[in-house]
Amino acid sequence: MEKFVSSREDMYGLASTIIMPESVWAASGHLENFTDPLDGKKFNTMFKSEAGARKGETTNVYLRPELAQGMFVNFKNIVDSFHPNLPFGIAQIGKCFRNEISPRDFLFRVREFNLMEFEYFILEKEWEKHFEYWRKEMWDWIKEIGINKDKVHESEVSKEELAHYSKRTIDFEFDFPFGKKELYGLAYRTDYDLANHKLNYYDEETKKTFIPHVIEPTFGADRTMLAILTGAYAEDELGGEKRVFLKLKPRIAPVKVAVFPLLKNKAKLVEKAREVYKMIKVAIPQLMFDDNGNIGKRYRRQDEIGTPFCVTVDFETLENDTVTVRGRDTGEQQRVGAKELLEYIRERLK
Ligand code: ATP
Repeated sequence: MEKFVSSREDMYGLASTIIMPESVWAASGHLENFTDPLDGKKFNTMFKSEAGARKGETTNVYLRPELAQGMFVNFKNIVDSFHPNLPFGIAQIGKCFRNEISPRDFLFRVREFNLMEFEYFILEKEWEKHFEYWRKEMWDWIKEIGINKDKVHESEVSKEELAHYSKRTIDFEFDFPFGKKELYGLAYRTDYDLANHKLNYYDEETKKTFIPHVIEPTFGADRTMLAILTGAYAEDELGGEKRVFLKLKPRIAPVKVAVFPLLKNKAKLVEKAREVYKMIKVAIPQLMFDDNGNIGKRYRRQDEIGTPFCVTVDFETLENDTVTVRGRDTGEQQRVGAKELLEYIRERLK
């Protein structure tokens, strides 16, 4: 919404038309609780610091609130050194800092966060094709890392709410426990940034110089973690007891397999369990050995960190070289020959 105000009364008039939930309105005591809109309060949107070793000889610097501009500056280095054909992209992952926000909801809104972002350079006439390409890529990524896709919703940003540089933006929203909120964004940034930086592109084939347009897929790394963790958190009842477990997609589980000797004080069991552990470790390094506490507690510990498989070496192992493999989601156990074990686990981790 763009509206010009010329007086204090106009500003109050505008403020009173802002729609807010009734409960907030009632709690606010109406306008008395708002500060004067013309008080001229300014926000610190960026974190300020000083660069330079000597006191008094420093330069003011500001921590970046986004990654994008660094990549637009890199555009020139890449074009000059690699001469890539369009379309091509630059991807970066890095820290961003926002000072004006109110941190809340765990990792969702923090002052210092990690962004993963692409700037994808294209011909203007092809923007819709590339926008659709990235839209699909983003859905594939969501499925690939095991974010529950039923909890993700696209939201088309309306013309009125589009950022000044964008002709189209889709927000990917996620059903967080505290509400449906932005997870990722996909924007068509036109040629706004390269034009502002006065950067262009020379096409060897057509011998023409022009400014490429840009599609920008943006992924918040912290919000990704939060979506994975809140989506994977599960509770059920197993063996008459309530249990909490993380239903992580096996591909992203930090520990894929845990190996246990049934009893810690039986040397033969421990020795065989170490052997099994070493055998798996060659192919699957994300492995854990645990002989602490009773077996039930060890299973629960692994359930809580989302380990898909627990392998137990017991007395039967010493007789017939089979182990039990317990699946995280059902708690069911199967006996598998030690020699077939690696293949069995690999198949199920896919
Ligand atoms: P929001 O509307 O939630 O404030 P935004 O529109 O300001 O987000 P962008 O500027 O588009 O977000 O930032 C790109 C991505 O960075 C977002 O999709 C989100 O994943 C992540 N992000 C933005 N602000 C924060 C923050 N304060 N803490 C953690 N992640 C953030």
